[in-house]
Amino acid sequence: MNTLNELFGIDAQTEAFCREVEQSLKECFDRLDETMHINGAKVLHAMQKNKLSDVHFSATTGYGYNDLGRDVVEQIYADIFKTESGLVRPQLMSGTHALTVALFGNLRPGDELLSPVGKPYDTLEGVIGIRPEVGSLAEYGITYKQVDLKEDFSFDYDGIRAAITEKTKLVTIQRSKGYSYRPTFSVKQIGELISFIKSIKPDVVCMVDNCYGEFVETIEPTEVGADLCVGSLIKNPGGGLAPIGGYIVGKEEYVEKAAMRLTAPGLGKEVGATLGLNQPVLQGLFLAPEVVTNALKGAIFASALYEKLGFEVMPTSKESRHDIIQAINMQSPENVIAFCQGIQKGAPVDSYVVPEPWDMPGYDAPVIMAAGAFIQGASIEMSADAPIKPPYTVFFQGGLTFYHARLGVMIALQTMKDKGLVTLP
Ligand SMILES: *Cc1c(COP(=O)(O)O)cnc(C)c1O
Repeated sequence: MNTLNELFGIDAQTEAFCREVEQSLKECFDRLDETMHINGAKVLHAMQKNKLSDVHFSATTGYGYNDLGRDVVEQIYADIFKTESGLVRPQLMSGTHALTVALFGNLRPGDELLSPVGKPYDTLEGVIGIRPEVGSLAEYGITYKQVDLKEDFSFDYDGIRAAITEKTKLVTIQRSKGYSYRPTFSVKQIGELISFIKSIKPDVVCMVDNCYGEFVETIEPTEVGADLCVGSLIKNPGGGLAPIGGYIVGKEEYVEKAAMRLTAPGLGKEVGATLGLNQPVLQGLFLAPEVVTNALKGAIFASALYEKLGFEVMPTSKESRHDIIQAINMQSPENVIAFCQGIQKGAPVDSYVVPEPWDMPGYDAPVIMAAGAFIQGASIEMSADAPIKPPYTVFFQGGLTFYHARLGVMIALQTMKDKGLVTLP
């Protein structure tokens, strides 16, 4: 028999400690499975309702007129998110691009964009023009306002009320913590925020950056009032199989405007060959409820282990989850580096590479990234990232299967142990 010790150098003490922690998570894992069954049923039903068939998997080329598969993919997404319309394309190159298309499609010069949940995801700073960048919304005369969360991470309702003016056209709400140390919002909380905003200005477009959130709960933000919901196919909804793509779902009018921006005014959703990608996009979507559950189990396993070792974690292993990201305050650069190097050692691809911190453009501290993925940069696959600055938070996410997420976390812990950075009880 191959033992974990022979294969990966995991010693008996680490294995026993991990097993014990895992045992304590049984009930919690059962609850995750409940959510998975509901989401799985939702996905299957949408595929059946739209009479998904073999013909939808054939590749289109060129203009991509009459791409039946593309239309079915978009209708299946719209049905899962309970929206009027969907734009799901390989030509949406990333989450940032999908968000960019939704923003540029729906904002016009003189309009104002509002983020009522603090600073948005790093890459959006350039898109909005918070960080000057060629081609930003700011260059087109679209202004931006931000209301930070309160000290206890709750919404600053007074601040938000004061920030909404005649000019406020679109509100962007980031569901996930992304790479900041704050809780992720539940769909219910997002619904409350949207109701509040609409009570002040009913015609404002409420957009949710849903990255990392899909299928974590049994409802999505579009079911609690979001006019638009946007995400990446190389995260949750692609199930690890979609090789590229993004989605925008929501009210027909707003999705249409995004489509006019993605392709060209007058063309909209009518063009865009899918080049044979409908099949992996759909098969990935079919797997996504289970893949997301596996990633969540990995995140909770990591949370419980490090909690037990005395590290501060967000969320804790007991808290309810609204995205797949696990933040762990590692307390020292050495811990961060060893953890990330361990995660890399546990990857199926590039496991022999040793990641080091480097000065990534756009970040104010060196960043270390561990990823050995089949799809470049796919963070639904097991990965970890961390800026090297206090409190030395590492963000861990993904794992297509639980066996992999579990093993990756064990190898990371063993790496820290081997360097004398942690002592197990
Ligand atoms: C990943 C992510 C994005 C953008 O994603 P890319 O696909 O890397 O461009 C935007 N917002 C949040 C919250 C994310 O997690």
